[in-house]
Amino acid sequence: MKIYTYPDPVLRAHAEPVKKIDNDIQNLIDNMIEAMYEAPGIGLAANQVGVLKRVIVFEGFPREKKGEPQVLINPEIIVSEGKISSEEACLSVIDYAADVTRASHIKARGLDRQGNVVEMEAEDLKAICLQHEIDHLNGVLFIDHISSLKRSLYKKRLKKRLKESEASA
Ligand SMILES: [Zn+2]
Repeated sequence: MKIYTYPDPVLRAHAEPVKKIDNDIQNLIDNMIEAMYEAPGIGLAANQVGVLKRVIVFEGFPREKKGEPQVLINPEIIVSEGKISSEEACLSVIDYAADVTRASHIKARGLDRQGNVVEMEAEDLKAICLQHEIDHLNGVLFIDHISSLKRSLYKKRLKKRLKESEASA
């Protein structure tokens, strides 16, 4: 699966809730997990592979079953507390990382691939990852959380880079 990168408009679109967990959704989940490991990354939202459905996949964090990918369909954050600041990057934002402040503890609710309602508490890296991926479903990127100065510097750099790669193609 192709991973779309900024400034592709699909990353700015609002993903639609999944109404029925059918074969297409199961295939989407399998393909997203594969794309996440191939990249490699620790999380992926459906927007990033060009599908506007509310589906995220993410790495199983060490406190749980390590290495077992997790899935949340129609995820929402129902509790968020505390603050944590850490460096983030994104498979869809090439060649950039920046500090982002987010809630340090969250509780998220969604459906698993069998359609069961699941609630999960997350802190630190897992909380950051879930907030980052759920943001994607709302068309939000981590660079929206940094200062406008930093963001415009990144945009300039990206423009230059895209121009250079065009010239060399
Ligand atoms: Zn991302």
